[in-house]
Amino acid sequence: MNNKNFTLNIAHLYPKLLNIYGDWGNVLTIKKRCEWRNIDINITSIGIGDVIDIKKYDLYFLGGGQDQQQIAVSKELQKHKSSLQDARDEHAVFLAICGGYQLLGHFYQPHNAEKLKGISLLDAYTIAGNKRFIGNVTAKCSYTIPDTLVGFENHSGLTYIQGETEAMATVTTGYGNNGKDKTEGAKYKNVFGTYLHGSFLPKNPQFADYLIKLALKKRYKDDIALQPLEDFFENQAHQALINKKY
Ligand code: GLN
Repeated sequence: MNNKNFTLNIAHLYPKLLNIYGDWGNVLTIKKRCEWRNIDINITSIGIGDVIDIKKYDLYFLGGGQDQQQIAVSKELQKHKSSLQDARDEHAVFLAICGGYQLLGHFYQPHNAEKLKGISLLDAYTIAGNKRFIGNVTAKCSYTIPDTLVGFENHSGLTYIQGETEAMATVTTGYGNNGKDKTEGAKYKNVFGTYLHGSFLPKNPQFADYLIKLALKKRYKDDIALQPLEDFFENQAHQALINKKY
């Protein structure tokens, strides 16, 4: 199996504002996993004021960010709301972490501050709680083999999902979306939001490949089998968090 002659275009949205816990490592993981298979990859950093050409991109990434940085991003995203909704409806893949995830829902209501508008790519909303959820997370996710996800969460926002948006995973350790209903993350069409930092994708290579396949399908309208990779270190990092006694 040769993955040559395929290309993916990634838009990294607001990397200067949304990049805590090295969330940029997610983009790097997609880049390396494509390069190792000879898939050409172009990454464009989108900043405040930049245009977003939705015809060009197969996958969009937003990292986590603190409330302060989310204010500017929320404002800027409003300008792109309808075109990014079109991108979603044309099956573009989105991965958003924590603060970025919150802004893909309808709104994020911080403590004692103005409500921040989201862009409603997901039928979800977030309200700041009284407690910070900090620590390792393990969860079960039905989209991949293995069906486990691992990561690290640090948020006070409590996210609730509804309608056709489904949970990305079920929490087995940690708090997830809101600490109550055992849901972790959200999915609608090819839009994924999660509270898992870590970075997320280096420790969950199966999920990275799942997103790459979805992005290739979006571009080439076909299921493209990926050349397998060794993943020795990636699997050890994943398994170490699964085996840990919590
Ligand atoms: N401001 C958000 C919260 O604490 C997001 C934090 C983050 O991205 N880690 O809920």
